[in-house]
Order: sequence, then structure tokens, then C-alpha cells
Amino acid sequence: MPQDRSREALLASQLLSGLPGQVQNRLLPLLIPTTFIRGQTLREPDIVNDYAFFITKGLVSYFDEAPGLCTGVMVGREGLVGYSCLLNERHVTFLRAIALFGGSALRISVSDLRLLATQLPPLRDRLMRYVEAMMAQNAQLAACNGQHDLLPRCARWLLMAHDRMGDEDLLITHEYLSSILGARRPAITNMLCELEREGLLERGRGHVRVRNRAGLEGVVCRCYHRIMNEFARLRCEPPRAVAAD
Ligand SMILES: [Zn+2]
Repeated sequence: MPQDRSREALLASQLLSGLPGQVQNRLLPLLIPTTFIRGQTLREPDIVNDYAFFITKGLVSYFDEAPGLCTGVMVGREGLVGYSCLLNERHVTFLRAIALFGGSALRISVSDLRLLATQLPPLRDRLMRYVEAMMAQNAQLAACNGQHDLLPRCARWLLMAHDRMGDEDLLITHEYLSSILGARRPAITNMLCELEREGLLERGRGHVRVRNRAGLEGVVCRCYHRIMNEFARLRCEPPRAVAAD
């Protein structure tokens, strides 16, 4: 049954799974399960997009029009691609949303989502808190990229991706990390080798696997914990203490 599939997918969305049952029931008929492949564009810049996507698996990031210029902002199973439609139905997106890793999502029309958000306060509150968390993430990433060293920034990216992907291998090349982190490829390779020697990750051909989360958390900058706390607050989970760098 299509709606059974939608309910199963809904529970995989961290943004939707904790909502009251009656809110989920109103959403279900409007959610279309869909899949996307690596490199697929989910949201185009400079046009009005008709759909938003609750991600249930995979990872999406936002890119500038300049080739390969990644903002580092990521959306996985905790989030919604196209959240700016909540602020203005006819909003023209500033950035392009592209899948870093293939996955799945629940697609919903912007007009349906906006209508339900006005009718269902628990949904509206959850979505507005998500917008707030994304604004916090964007600001923290800007500060991080300008002030913190490559190693803690790389650990931050790996941990954020791992949170969103679970224990799956991160299908990412050194070249790609180099573009995301704004560093030269040899520096990325040296750093990954060092992290591998310390047993924190395992490198493969075109992929990285996190081996020791606690170890990575030992080298990451405080930006990671600050961002994660914002998303924990969204799910009404207690924040973790954030130590100074
Ligand atoms: Zn940082």
C-alpha cells in the first residue's frame, strides 16, 4: 500500500517522526516517496520551486553557481530541502541543492506544506525551529571556516555527515573534501592519513569510514557541538556541554 510506504518513510525522517499522530496522518496523503542519485539537483536556484523534500536517507548540500563551490551546509535525515518556502511561497532559492550521496526523500508540494503549517501548530513549530537551527548552522559554519584549522574542520564535516548517514561509508574523494574544506588536495591526503594512523577512520578507494567517533569528537572544534545542540533542541533532546577550543 502506498500510504504504508509513506508511513515507513515518515518514521525515517527525524524531522517528522516525533510529530503527534494526527499531524502525521494529515501529512501522509500528501507525501510522495521518491529517490535521488548522487549529483542530482533537488532544488534549482533563481526559479520558484514547486516541491520540498523531507530527506529520509542520503545527504544533500547547497552549492553556489560557481562550479564545485560547496557551502558546506548539509541536509540529511534530520532535515528538509527547500525550507525557505516556509518563509515565502514564491521564494526564489539562492543556492542549488545537490545530492552528495544518493538516497530517498518524501516529496511534498510547497503549497500543501505551507497550508498544513498554518493549520497544524505542532508542525509549524517544528518547521520554524528547523529554520532557526539551519540559520544557526549557517552562521556557525561561516565562523568555523574563517577561524578554525583544517583538521578540526575536517573532523566536524565527517561527524556531521556521519550523524546524517549512520554507519554507512561516506562515498567521498580527497578531491571532493578538498573543495568542501577549501584546502589543497595534498593537505587533505596527509590529514586523512594521520587520522587513519590514529585509528579514527579508514580510507578506501573513493570512500571514508568513521571508525572511532569518540576519537573524532576529541579533535573536532566546538562548532560541531554547537550545531548539533541546535538540532537536538529541535527534537527536544537535552544539549551536550560544549567545551572551549
Ligand atoms: Zn569550527
